[in-house]
Amino acid sequence: MQHFRSDAIIVRVREYGESDLSVSFMTRDKGLLRGIAKGGRKSSRRFVNCLEPLSLVLMDYHQKAEGKAYFLDSCRLVDSFPGIRENFESLSLASYVIELLELLFPYNVTDPRAFDLAKATLGFISRGADLQKVRILFEGHAMALGGYAIDLNKCAICGRKYTAKGDGVILMEKGKFSCLKCSTPTEKHPLLSPQAISGLRAVQGGAWETLKHLHLSPEDLTQIGHVLKMHVAYRIGKRLKSAKYLQ
Ligand SMILES: [Zn+2]
Repeated sequence: MQHFRSDAIIVRVREYGESDLSVSFMTRDKGLLRGIAKGGRKSSRRFVNCLEPLSLVLMDYHQKAEGKAYFLDSCRLVDSFPGIRENFESLSLASYVIELLELLFPYNVTDPRAFDLAKATLGFISRGADLQKVRILFEGHAMALGGYAIDLNKCAICGRKYTAKGDGVILMEKGKFSCLKCSTPTEKHPLLSPQAISGLRAVQGGAWETLKHLHLSPEDLTQIGHVLKMHVAYRIGKRLKSAKYLQ
């Protein structure tokens, strides 16, 4: 028998049998896991206030042998992110954050940075940060961590290096960047200003501090947001249930 303790974000809780709960949770070191909370349906002191989706908890759990089911022993609430539940927009974005990460990092695909991103993003939302900015920061970095970064260093058609001068175009169906000599902006090939390109590069790299110094205009932010929304839709959108509740 092996015992574990880790920070975990509760993803989903379902009734299981007569008195148990089946709990999906995201951990930093083992990624997404599912475990049984024995007796969890009855008010249990071991899980008090803990098994609420989108909460950060300290989880104790065990596994009888490698490859066998996990069982939850107890957990302690670390942060319920109360601000998330204050309005529909915040709750929708928080649900979307977890759903996109579940798709990018399913069972057995572990990246500690995905957990850190989830925790940071839920914190931003709970503290009332600008939801448009939070979404951009989250989507750009999550997609890049999942292997879907848009290469902004060179034009995908002529191969010329992009030198941060002049507008560019994103070829959404390919998830690639093109210079204006090779492609014309259209609905499916949205335009990005040089500032927006720098901003997108910073969010993809998780360089949020850099982003603060870029002084992006509302128009730049709108361009980045539009490209990321389409990028997610093109790559994995059909499988995202929560996306339709976002503006
Ligand atoms: Zn080109």
